[in-house]
Amino acid sequence: MAQDKSASDRMEKIVSLCKRRGFIMQSSEIYGGLNGCWDYGPLGTELKRNLKDFWWRRMVRERDDVVGMDGSILMNRQVWVASGHEATFSDPMVDCRNCKSRLRADQLPEKDGKRQCTVCGSLDLTEPRAFNLMFKTYVGATEDESAITYLRPETAQAIFVQFKNILEVARKKLPFGIAQIGKAFRNEINPRNFTFRSREFEQMELEYFCRPEGGLELLEYWLKERLKFYKDIGISSELLHIHKIPPEECAHYSKGTYDIEFDFPFGIQELEGVAYRTDYDLTQHQKASGKLLEYFDEETKQRFVPHVVEPSAGVDRTVLALICAAYSEEMAPDEKGKLETRIVLKFHPRMAPIKCGIFPLLKNNEKLVRQAREIVKILRPHMMVFYDESGAIGRRYRRQDEAGTPFGVTVDFDTIGENGPAKEGTVTIRERDSMKQERIAIVELKSLLLDRID
Ligand code: ATP
Repeated sequence: MAQDKSASDRMEKIVSLCKRRGFIMQSSEIYGGLNGCWDYGPLGTELKRNLKDFWWRRMVRERDDVVGMDGSILMNRQVWVASGHEATFSDPMVDCRNCKSRLRADQLPEKDGKRQCTVCGSLDLTEPRAFNLMFKTYVGATEDESAITYLRPETAQAIFVQFKNILEVARKKLPFGIAQIGKAFRNEINPRNFTFRSREFEQMELEYFCRPEGGLELLEYWLKERLKFYKDIGISSELLHIHKIPPEECAHYSKGTYDIEFDFPFGIQELEGVAYRTDYDLTQHQKASGKLLEYFDEETKQRFVPHVVEPSAGVDRTVLALICAAYSEEMAPDEKGKLETRIVLKFHPRMAPIKCGIFPLLKNNEKLVRQAREIVKILRPHMMVFYDESGAIGRRYRRQDEAGTPFGVTVDFDTIGENGPAKEGTVTIRERDSMKQERIAIVELKSLLLDRID
């Protein structure tokens, strides 16, 4: 699909900022990279961690009805046979006989009723063939059929196969959920749009088990909860779209699925799926393993396989959405009053990689430096801070604007009492978006910042 120029320029700027400032870079870059794999640098790692921690807080710690788990990436091959992934987790692929490109059949335009190659325009393509997206590997020393398994293509299956064990130890009644954050791997044919479609990525998934009659209502409930979550991490509802998947396009076992989509510069694309998966997964594993995966209702004395609603979000896609939503360019005066372009990542303080920059006005004044370092020591156990003493103060602010740091604290001559006692022990705190400064006492700094980043 053609992108308009300003959107592709914006994306280019975002990718270059990510590399320049150490958010996201190509994996194994010095060897030419590995397509579909990405590394997070210091700022990206903090951002990603803040996102995962907040998801965990909202989805697990603040709820009575959800517990966590952390499953292994490698599992018994039978998990993937029973779940249907081995037989059907595939994309239909065609080869172009002219330029030899391999392309996804369902993403090609048609000309004169025939699929057309998007690389060279040829109509001479092979018939579609299924290409399994799972990475195959061997467990142990022998590379034979019996040693085959796969890197998990989703985290959900670990939850289903541990359902019974967790039900017993968690002592929860329906409805209740099991949450997990972890790596997933898909051998995507066309990794593209930066980290949007990667081959290695992380998912944040909740399997929320319920009675069959409660499924549809809980689907609506979880859609609302998840939209609230995006608001709470600073993604405005104007950038989100809810796409109700038409019944004929839902997986055969699903009784309803919503995609939560985001306005990326390269188009509106899926961020998260919220799916009512009925009792499909547990029933499949029950049949294949021969182990009962039922719930016993003490009150009605009934036994049944629970149904499940699954909100499944991508960590990397959400990190990319956070960066795209936060990126802004505006005109602002420099130190001498001349207008210049200010690049700001307007992250919600909750998500920002660094919460506060700390600056002594001058680096060669021992008293200023000592006081600034003292503030670093006070704040460091509670939040990510960054000490910077080099360059003009305006430059230092700009560097933190680009990193998305919401607050900057400057220690000046008032702080150390050189202009009289009235302002001694106070600092200026600058807010990133408004660039407004206020003076506050050092003793109040910690609680003020903690309040604003919570
Ligand atoms: P798509 O249609 O974009 O391939 P999907 O519908 O196959 O995605 P799900 O299987 O529902 O995706 O996975 C749940 C979530 O995991 C997605 O909403 C997305 O955020 C994330 N995800 C899936 N595939 C990838 C990928 N290749 N790279 C990054 N994130 C992904």
